[in-house]
Amino acid sequence: KRVEVPVAEHGIDRNLLDERAVKVVQTLTEAGFEAYVVGGAVRDLLLGRRPKDFDVATNATPEQVKQLFRRAFIIGRRFRIVHVVYGRGREHEVIEVSTFRALLAEASAERVSGNEKSSKHELAGKSHVVDAEGRVLRDNVWGPQVEDAARRDFTVNAMYYQPQTELLVDYHGGLKDLRAQQLRMIGDPETRYREDPVRILRAIRFAAKLGFTVEPASKAPLRAMAALLPNVPASRLFDEMVKLLQTGHGLASLEQLRLQGLGRGVFPILDAVLNPDGSLPEGPRGEFVRQALQDTDARVADGRSVAPSFLLACLLWHEVKQRWQALRTAGEPPVPALQQAIDQVFDARVGDISGRGKLAADMREIWLMQPRFERRGGSGPYSLVEQPRYRAGFDFLRLRADVGDADAALADWWEDFALGDEEERRALIEDAR
Ligand code: ATP
Ligand code: MG
Repeated sequence: KRVEVPVAEHGIDRNLLDERAVKVVQTLTEAGFEAYVVGGAVRDLLLGRRPKDFDVATNATPEQVKQLFRRAFIIGRRFRIVHVVYGRGREHEVIEVSTFRALLAEASAERVSGNEKSSKHELAGKSHVVDAEGRVLRDNVWGPQVEDAARRDFTVNAMYYQPQTELLVDYHGGLKDLRAQQLRMIGDPETRYREDPVRILRAIRFAAKLGFTVEPASKAPLRAMAALLPNVPASRLFDEMVKLLQTGHGLASLEQLRLQGLGRGVFPILDAVLNPDGSLPEGPRGEFVRQALQDTDARVADGRSVAPSFLLACLLWHEVKQRWQALRTAGEPPVPALQQAIDQVFDARVGDISGRGKLAADMREIWLMQPRFERRGGSGPYSLVEQPRYRAGFDFLRLRADVGDADAALADWWEDFALGDEEERRALIEDAR
């Protein structure tokens, strides 16, 4: 049932809206289409938070949307949408515009057997496809708004807001659930987790981010359905892990994963650090990860930037060190031993995730800098502080020192050296002898 809620009742503050999102909606409406702000942005607006990004939903097709904007790109294959781009460089902003999608019975979809990669030829030219487990591989059939709402995940994520009329459109009691602070899956929860197991992780992420509870029927199948997560392409899982840990609620996410029994066995990188029950280990090893997550959460809260390479380097450091030590004990010289240890950890925990070359290179650099901090003689320190990734390497050393994994005096020395003038630097090198 379509419910239209007026501003007096939903109370969305227009000042939290993004001008460009409003502009996109306006352009579409002036061209005769329906358009709304949708999804997470509406949820955040209702909570009085400024959304970090805005999605727009419309009855215009991607081709029709593209024609209305100067810089618009149709992207995605599993899920085709339009990116409308404003501004350049650091200032640039993307509004995602998606076309209302039809709610289709799984039975009417074309079914393929293998994984997405091996069955590319089977998918060509098809717009609605599921695999043998019911996972949706193609989802590009357009439909009315009522169906678009039904195919979203949680009721609080399935509301539409029209900034010109200020009307909120709610089909599934999202506003009520939002006020009760609960996450309710639309439709039959088990079926919805089967269609897309990433929704399991989204339940955990929103519980952590919003402090909401997962309503009992939506919570019950979570653990059993987690067995389907290995069917999800590794790169999508990886993106979801980064969102869990790095968008300002990393510690809360770990806690939610533990509560749902999903701390272990889902992400190989977390398997490298967590206890069998999903908790962080006692002692410096767990403390290091806790500190790293806490710092990341604090940085996000302050609006400062965060790099996934730094956090991932923290999560895997203990294992890198263990393997490094083993290789040295076996007689390998320190630097090649570290390089091999890093290769082993990438093979075991990260795998081959295409398009992550830069991320992996940054992690490697952070780790390889650590033994270089031990050498304070000659010209080494001068070239080290000039490295583009020096700051990340030093922050890593400082964090290690904070938990007793490195000498605090060493971290202080490098701080002084980096800030010092020529004469002070010479004196520091002299002192370190
Ligand atoms: P965030 O604050 O993390 O951006 P969000 O709710 O906006 O949260 P997005 O991933 O940006 O999440 O997705 C936008 C909207 O698209 C969601 O609010 C939801 O309505 C819908 N959606 C996204 N992913 C799924 C999914 N896997 N299954 C069903 N609906 C989804
Ligand atoms: Mg969003």
